[in-house]
Amino acid sequence: MKPYKNKINRIRSFALSLIFIGVVIMYMGIFFKSNEIVMLIFMVLGVLAIIGSTIVYAWIGTLSTRAIPVQCPNCGKHTKMLGRVDMCGHCREPLTMDASLEGKEFDVSYNRPEKKKDSN
Ligand SMILES: [Zn+2]
Repeated sequence: MKPYKNKINRIRSFALSLIFIGVVIMYMGIFFKSNEIVMLIFMVLGVLAIIGSTIVYAWIGTLSTRAIPVQCPNCGKHTKMLGRVDMCGHCREPLTMDASLEGKEFDVSYNRPEKKKDSN
């Protein structure tokens, strides 16, 4: 099975990893103690990663309000879904908002906006 995850969970783990990346970058700066400028660059990059993570967390908050709460038909738990297709956050059951996609195999490409017919 392909490692699809519920979108909100996926963004949340991305934000969490950004914090770790930021901390690691700042930690790496310690190895450049002799060069203050390089150390400063690492520190700034680390802080930027952590700020980025905060922004992503705020973004999740906005997304969550737009996400549609649904009850998973497979495990019965409530989950929030984004876009036309998403996965249950608890059991990874594929969920769809589009009746025409019901029963079809889960495919993330359904989320991509349809190509414009007359694009250049
Ligand atoms: Zn479920």
